[in-house]
Amino acid sequence: MDLYEHQARELFEEHGIAVPRAEVTDSSKEAREIARRLGGRALVKAQVKTGGRGKAGGVKLAADPASAELTARHILGMDIKGHTVATVMLAQPVDIESEFYVSYVLDRAAGRFLAIASAEGGMEIEEVAARRPDAVARVHIDPARGVTSAKAGEIVAAAGLPAQAVDVLVRLWQVLVREDALLVEVNPLVRTRQGRLVALDGKVTLDDNASFRQSRRGGAAAEYGDPLEEEAAAKGLNYVKLDGEVGIIGNGAGLVMATLDVVAGCGARPANFLDIGGGASAGVMADGLAVILSDPAVKSVFVNVFGGITACDAVAEGIVRGLDTVRLTKPLVVRLDGNNAARGRAILDEHRHPLVEQATTMDGAARRAARLATAA
Ligand code: GDP
Ligand code: MN
Repeated sequence: MDLYEHQARELFEEHGIAVPRAEVTDSSKEAREIARRLGGRALVKAQVKTGGRGKAGGVKLAADPASAELTARHILGMDIKGHTVATVMLAQPVDIESEFYVSYVLDRAAGRFLAIASAEGGMEIEEVAARRPDAVARVHIDPARGVTSAKAGEIVAAAGLPAQAVDVLVRLWQVLVREDALLVEVNPLVRTRQGRLVALDGKVTLDDNASFRQSRRGGAAAEYGDPLEEEAAAKGLNYVKLDGEVGIIGNGAGLVMATLDVVAGCGARPANFLDIGGGASAGVMADGLAVILSDPAVKSVFVNVFGGITACDAVAEGIVRGLDTVRLTKPLVVRLDGNNAARGRAILDEHRHPLVEQATTMDGAARRAARLATAA
């Protein structure tokens, strides 16, 4: 599970990494009060689980409490790469002398963790790696030994970071281990004009498989998660929110993954992953549709089902009964193939819903759903 910046900031603070003073709110009025508490000037930062917020206009410096309110009003509700901004964090501005990049990420292929660090922080690390591969240091970490001061010194030397970064790197490793994270990233880690190292932006991905031993996450889960993913999980759906505009429903993880690729190949972006598995009852179909349709980024929905053990007529019945309980507000393209496909298609034809159309092939359906989404 990815955390919001303000949650990552809190974890860093708990583990002794310096972070700017900051508070979160969903109200522009309160943003003004917070800016006042922070001393007047404040950075207003969109809280969305995607990078590049700065470039998208989601990070702005406000000179005083009144403009913090205006800026917060502008950023709240903004759409950043398909994520609607529901909260902003106001942070006390820091005088930046230089920006660095540090992260730990699980390297599955190597069976190790990997430290990635660069003295060229601020922009996205993929960009730095593409333009100046020499500027990005990569150091493997034995998970049993972890990051000692000596190991941190190795990373600091490889990347050309200031010596004080040793302490930050050791603490950041504690965040990864104690919180059961798969990724911790600080970008930028900055040196201030006063010579302090401060983590200005953080990204943390927690290992969901370890949440059982992170007791405080039980209560915090609802706060940490994407609201749509929470709703889907409560309904027992296998749903992952993505950044695009074509809602996807399919049966079987492999088919759904292939569907995401085919939609992307048609020039649109999938809005989610949703595997309804075998069975595909009316209840599951209705629940899946309800979750997908409540995502404002979704412009069309593609239902891609290959009937194996699941018969297509049962899926078609599921769609028809699902449409009785959910008001369809966006076009739905259905492709049924395999076991009992002809009967399934006939059921949908008889139902004649004005927003439902059928396609006979996966490619054809993907093209149609992509066109409907990009035309909308
Ligand atoms: P991102 O675009 O989503 O990665 O958001 P960041 O939090 O990293 O902010 C983007 C950029 O805004 C940073 O790389 C900094 O250059 C700048 N920035 C963020 N906080 C501060 C601050 O306190 N002071 C100054 N001067 N710049 C900041
Ligand atoms: Mn950043």
